[in-house]
Amino acid sequence: MIWFVWFVLFKQTNQTNQINQINPSNMAPTVRTKARPTIHEFDLIRTLHRRHGRHTPSVIQGIGDDAAVITSPAGQWSVLTTDLLTEGVHFDLRTATMSDIGFRAAAANLSDIAAMGGTPQHLLVALAVPRTGTRQHVLQLYRGMMDACRPHCVGLIGGDTSASKSGWFFNLTLIGGVAPRKALFRSGARVGDFLYVTGTLGDSLTGLKLLNERPIHTKRRPSSAALTTRHRKFLTGRHLRPTARIAEGRWLSTHRLATSAIDISDGLSGDLRHICEDSHVGAYIDLNALPLSPACRAYAAARKLDPVNLALTGGEDYELLFTVSPRQCRRLEQSAIEQGFSITCIGTIRRYRFGMQALTPHGTRHQLAMTSYEHFT
Ligand code: ADP
Ligand code: MG
Repeated sequence: MIWFVWFVLFKQTNQTNQINQINPSNMAPTVRTKARPTIHEFDLIRTLHRRHGRHTPSVIQGIGDDAAVITSPAGQWSVLTTDLLTEGVHFDLRTATMSDIGFRAAAANLSDIAAMGGTPQHLLVALAVPRTGTRQHVLQLYRGMMDACRPHCVGLIGGDTSASKSGWFFNLTLIGGVAPRKALFRSGARVGDFLYVTGTLGDSLTGLKLLNERPIHTKRRPSSAALTTRHRKFLTGRHLRPTARIAEGRWLSTHRLATSAIDISDGLSGDLRHICEDSHVGAYIDLNALPLSPACRAYAAARKLDPVNLALTGGEDYELLFTVSPRQCRRLEQSAIEQGFSITCIGTIRRYRFGMQALTPHGTRHQLAMTSYEHFT
């Protein structure tokens, strides 16, 4: 509600400014103190349009009218996702640049489309800028977002702009498509299926830990011989500029290789739980099999942490977790080699009663904790 009042005030500020040129007494003093000298909304939108609003054949109307208009091939299913990001909750300006924040936000949205087996097409961005925010900040944010989107030919087709009284807020909406009946759901896993992940796990959490040890504005950092500069770059890069597995998701859906899929945004154990609950199954995973990068292992060794725990609970890797029927496993693994995709089998799907169990590196079994990131705890 407060946000809405402020939004109205901001809109009125722009309108009042125009009226004010005719009669200065029309501008209420309280409104004038909230005027933003560094950002002119319409000029900003024009710049965003010019820089990022390139039209693809499926865009009938992009930025510039009351709403965007697009076409989709007849019969294609639309895949829609939206993400809200709040300063202090989802990102910290002390450890990331605006461009990194934009990139990561877009990658998270792209990853949702990847997990459905879809192809991303169009982006809408709603933005609330705090008083400390400048035009340059906004342009950097968009540069990062579009850097993530460009390889997938995703164009900016609209959005909304407002002021914020407390920090940055922004919301991305991605529109994509998938061939009919080829979408991948969390609910498709069956008893006997094998569990796979793409890439490596735990890198993003490790990268975040590194960034928190060494804010970008200071040079101090804990020393550790085992962790090379290349390791650091790799891990912080995996956190700040994650790769959405669009090609892998499309491959799994187009060739009907997976029975279910989810992207790892909350952490392996948390996201596996989503598949188990939605498919009404249990799961058994071998913690020895979790794919770990050399950099993640080096970090864990240097800080005396358990790398398996980093891989199990660390969120925001944006890798895909998916299940494959035993009949398809050979075809999947053969095809992954041909395509150059990195995938690892980490377990199997069991009956619901089995729950979620893990084989530990010590050879013992234990019930898997359902730890994942929760916003309201
Ligand atoms: P309205 O008042 O009808 O919401 P706006 O002035 O907010 O119109 O928006 C004008 C055009 O600019 C629309 O096409 C809208 O989608 C686009 N737009 C506004 N803000 C943004 C933004 N932050 N990013 C991208 N496009 C935007
Ligand atoms: Mg608007």
